[in-house]
Amino acid sequence: MQVKAPRGTYDIMPDDVNKWHYVERIIRQTAETFGYAEIRTPIFEHTELFERGVGDTTDIVSKEMYTFQDRSNRSLTLRPENTASCVRAFIEHSVAGGILPVKWYYMGPMFRYDRPQAGRYRQFHQFGVEAFGSNNPAMDAEVISLALEILANLGLTDYELHLNSVGCPQCREIYREKLIAHIRPVKEQLCADCQTRFEKNPLRVLDCKLNSCQAAIAGFPNIYDYLCPDCSEHYSQVRKNLSDNKSSFIHDNQLVRGLDYYTNTAFEITIPQIGAQSAVAGGGRYNGLVKACGGTDMQGIGFAMGMERLLLAMASVENGPINAPKLDVFLALMDDKYEPQAVQILSGLRRAGIKTDRDYNYRSAKAQMKYADKLGARIVLLLGEDEIQRGIITIRDMQSREQSEASTEELMAAIKAILE
Ligand SMILES: [Zn+2]
Ligand SMILES: [Zn+2]
Repeated sequence: MQVKAPRGTYDIMPDDVNKWHYVERIIRQTAETFGYAEIRTPIFEHTELFERGVGDTTDIVSKEMYTFQDRSNRSLTLRPENTASCVRAFIEHSVAGGILPVKWYYMGPMFRYDRPQAGRYRQFHQFGVEAFGSNNPAMDAEVISLALEILANLGLTDYELHLNSVGCPQCREIYREKLIAHIRPVKEQLCADCQTRFEKNPLRVLDCKLNSCQAAIAGFPNIYDYLCPDCSEHYSQVRKNLSDNKSSFIHDNQLVRGLDYYTNTAFEITIPQIGAQSAVAGGGRYNGLVKACGGTDMQGIGFAMGMERLLLAMASVENGPINAPKLDVFLALMDDKYEPQAVQILSGLRRAGIKTDRDYNYRSAKAQMKYADKLGARIVLLLGEDEIQRGIITIRDMQSREQSEASTEELMAAIKAILE
């Protein structure tokens, strides 16, 4: 029986890995120019961390986690996202005692038991940032600007930035009651999921994508109208800062994150051309999260970006810089009796940082040339009977198609001259 990759997972084959390397490089460079440092947390955590840090009323925790018992009967979970782990690390390493704010970024695989579809996998990859220790609206704007700058640096310009404020626990409570009063009379018209959401977390009814639910709740009150003076001022400062930076945004009343630890800024970036799953990044402020995970009262804000979605969006733009790393030199040898010379040439070139490969099957010179061409080699070195007799190596420039000869001593200089 042939074993295949599990449903919802996929292999990134070497040709595609070049694209990943490119995107990862742009992301790292951009994050570092904004002063963010990378953190790497474990792939799995105690299940309890996500129950508290993501929230047990969310779909992620209630339906989508890969949770298992290890051999000592601990309940562990493959991370479905990385913010909770960053918060845990922030608390565990007493980072709050140092200089604030701290700005972290991460990149890596996440796991959710979700129905696989285009752009959505069970093992997927996210890049994200978390900034702890500042409530300055300029920090909100910086985090959003970093996400936008990454898209710009990847050549993605057709995006929409959706923005809202979810207020603080005080003003949200007032809003929540208004929303409940609005939805209660139409509750029976909502889908089964929304009826459950309504009981547990009414703000999440606004997230439902079903037209019937949207129609039922039409005319719902906007949280914007219920923001307290502090929250209102925070939101207007964020918008001003974005405008000062010439970033356009859409105020989106429906962008409401229902959990108690979310505060103020909420945002989402979509690239409509990639289809139904058009959100490439989402984030916001979570001033209550560190405390909810057992730490001190600590402000924080962050976002996560879906790497698969980014690559999907990249497929539709001109992406010239994504090239496979080409081989510099291919060593063609005609017989195993030249192995001693071959191994010395190969090692010498590789130690000099020249990307070098060779033939292992002693095929005909013609077949080896074809193979070298396929590998994209700039230079082919030929080592056969004639070369050994005369103590030289034949050098073929695959671009000009010119051939020359060099002694072992001259070889390195000759190769460097061509590569430059
Ligand atoms: Zn407020
Ligand atoms: Zn619904």
